[in-house]
Amino acid sequence: MTYDPTPDQRVILDALKSFLRNRVAPGAAERDQTGEFPLELTRELGELGVMGAQTPEEYGGAGLDTATFAMIIEEIAAVDGSLCLTVASHNSLCQGHILIAGTEEQKRRFLPDLASARKLGAWGLTEPGSGSDSGGLGTRAVLQDDGSWILNGSKNFITQGSVGGTYVILARTDAPRPGRSKNDGISAFVFNRDEVQGFSIGRTEDKLGLRSSDTAQLIFEDVRLDAGALLGQRGGAFKDVMRVLDGGRIGIGAMGLGLGRAAFEFAARYAVEREQFGQPIAHNQGIGFKLADMDTQLEAARLLLRKAADLKDQGRDFTVSAARAKLFASEVGVKACDEAIQILGGYGYIKEYPVERFWRDNRLTRIGEGTSEVQRLIISRHIIGRYAQQNVTA
Ligand SMILES: Cc1cc2nc3c(=O)[nH]c(=O)nc-3n(C[C@H](O)[C@H](O)[C@H](O)COP(=O)(O)OP(=O)(O)OC[C@H]3O[C@@H](n4cnc5c(N)ncnc54)[C@H](O)[C@@H]3O)c2cc1C
Repeated sequence: MTYDPTPDQRVILDALKSFLRNRVAPGAAERDQTGEFPLELTRELGELGVMGAQTPEEYGGAGLDTATFAMIIEEIAAVDGSLCLTVASHNSLCQGHILIAGTEEQKRRFLPDLASARKLGAWGLTEPGSGSDSGGLGTRAVLQDDGSWILNGSKNFITQGSVGGTYVILARTDAPRPGRSKNDGISAFVFNRDEVQGFSIGRTEDKLGLRSSDTAQLIFEDVRLDAGALLGQRGGAFKDVMRVLDGGRIGIGAMGLGLGRAAFEFAARYAVEREQFGQPIAHNQGIGFKLADMDTQLEAARLLLRKAADLKDQGRDFTVSAARAKLFASEVGVKACDEAIQILGGYGYIKEYPVERFWRDNRLTRIGEGTSEVQRLIISRHIIGRYAQQNVTA
């Protein structure tokens, strides 16, 4: 493993950074204020290959590995958290689920439009009554005599909910089989919004941060889906959901890292310039040690993310590694944003400087795609499983 980007990665990152500098950075603060969704930027990122970063080239994507994807996400987050969430969820959740569970026909039908960003992808698991306990979802799909499905229910907090073109939706199709948990009997469906009736958008959320990402409620009233909409095995989608989320957590962790890094870099520049008591504030150990901790924790987060990404690309089990990486990167990323506000003092609290936006945007990474508590559940169950079989000897 090399720690620096390879020459190929550098070419990709240089092109991306130039785009971020010229096209994204100038409007990021204003979009945070207006909440305007940057549709045009997603199309341009599609042309750069970023909107189908991990989708194989045969389906119109860039076919990049997960480590490169994490680097891309870190860079976008460092400039615009909202755009970053759009890119991360479009890639990891919607396309990620189609890649994991789709038939060849479904991949050829949906992925080229998603990878080019001609259509944006949304992925609906969460509902008003089921978040962390996602197996408790209430949306239902009922099989009809002609093989089609009728979908009823609603979804909450769905990224790209109101601007999406292609949707992957989780619904209960069957009662859990005897002896199985309530996660059994859940199925996934994929469809284009303009090809179905009875699907409407409810509330779009007014959020603390990530304000120019789109978060909306979805409502399904007798939506008829053809037989070809079933994505993966009937009743067996929960295991695919877990795999989708494992991958998604590397993206959300990289987002936490990118926002934390941006806050750290801004605070470091500020601390060597800002003088109080006749010297730059960075020369006080109280500030210098904060910067040292931020730098060390962000570096450790990057390494955890890299390990999870490499395990995924090697086809090895990466569930616990992704949980550790997401937990740590989001926690230290948010902490770095908080410390950056502290280092800027009063200036950190006002909107003229970007660190308060970085904090507001980053706060989501401790919640989305499994809260920090859920990551600790995954890790602690793994620890308990590993040590339960071992005898304690003095
Ligand atoms: C901006 C945004 C974008 C989102 N995008 C999407 C999307 O695209 N698609 C989608 O499906 N969802 C999306 N979500 C939903 C997100 O994944 C959920 O909000 C998240 O999983 C938590 O669910 P909840 O909000 O219902 O909280 P709850 O599950 O009700 O949790 C509330 C609190 O209880 C804690 N808790 C719950 N159970 C346990 C436990 N067993 N042990 C310890 N603590 C526990 C949680 O950690 C949390 O602190 C998005 C949310 C936001 C805010």
